[in-house]
Amino acid sequence: MPVADYKTYCEMLDRARKGHFAYPAINVTSLTSANAVLKGLADSKSDGIIQVSTGGGAFASGASVKDMALGAMSIAEHVHRAAERYPVYVALHTDHCQADKLDKFVMPLVEETERRRAAGMPNLFNSHMFDGSAIPLKDNIDLSVKLLERFHRSELILEIEAGVVGGEEDGVKAEASAKLYTTPEDTLEVAHRLNTVKGARYLLAATFGNVHGVYKPGHVKLKPSILKDCQDAVVKKFGEWALFYLVFHGGSGSELKDIHEAIDYGVVKMNIDTDTQYAFTRAIADHMFRHYDGVLKVDGEVGSKKTYDPRTYMALAEASMTERVKQACSDLKSVGTTLFKG
Ligand SMILES: [Zn+2]
Repeated sequence: MPVADYKTYCEMLDRARKGHFAYPAINVTSLTSANAVLKGLADSKSDGIIQVSTGGGAFASGASVKDMALGAMSIAEHVHRAAERYPVYVALHTDHCQADKLDKFVMPLVEETERRRAAGMPNLFNSHMFDGSAIPLKDNIDLSVKLLERFHRSELILEIEAGVVGGEEDGVKAEASAKLYTTPEDTLEVAHRLNTVKGARYLLAATFGNVHGVYKPGHVKLKPSILKDCQDAVVKKFGEWALFYLVFHGGSGSELKDIHEAIDYGVVKMNIDTDTQYAFTRAIADHMFRHYDGVLKVDGEVGSKKTYDPRTYMALAEASMTERVKQACSDLKSVGTTLFKG
């Protein structure tokens, strides 16, 4: 199927919240990892989200170019073409973009979508995250409202963050004193201000102790009940229509019961990066260790072209990542939920 259009994406999100499941939103940095996600979703008969981070975009543009928007565009263009071959819907999203990176990452991508729409073409991306969690909440929301107004004109969905996801991602590290738990008061303010942009759609990454990266069991104390408190508060104040569409960041290594509880409280998108990164590399490491005398020229030998051809181990990495994507669909209860009618 082609990449989901706005109407389909909205329907996906509505269905997930109503049906108590969530979409895996998987970070990709190459054609190979994007293909792995498409296959994993298709095998699971699940729609899903492919996302690119600032660092992923820079990487994809080439080590000497390092243009985060350029790399993100290349990946998105590939997905637009390749997604046609898979019987599910996929939405394209960009991950964390801090305020100081908006002009280098999100805005050029929004401009590209605006240019495409003017030419009668589909949007490049479906949604973008603005991560204003490092600036005061008022500034975060002021900027978010401005972005949402512009996004809405081009049928783009905005993801914002209130509270701070701990740990480190893409070299951006959360302060040790960071506010790891969003409060209902914060989210009421988000709803109060963002709902003034009539008809616009946004996703909210509310934090409940989440940490980027993966840790040994017991290290991270998740409190999904915080999400329920936020939803209860917003419904009490504004009514059922104001319920949030929530995003779960930093979920790698989380216990299934916490994931399911978060989904019950309105999480419709769970970001997955660390777990799929590991799955990708695990297969390559296995290949290298098993065939070290083929991938290397040992003791004057010539190695084995078949084993050091990058396609050999990249295909193994792709297959291994596909399996991890399938597990994510199963964990998030999205298996068999595709909107695509084949
Ligand atoms: Zn995140």
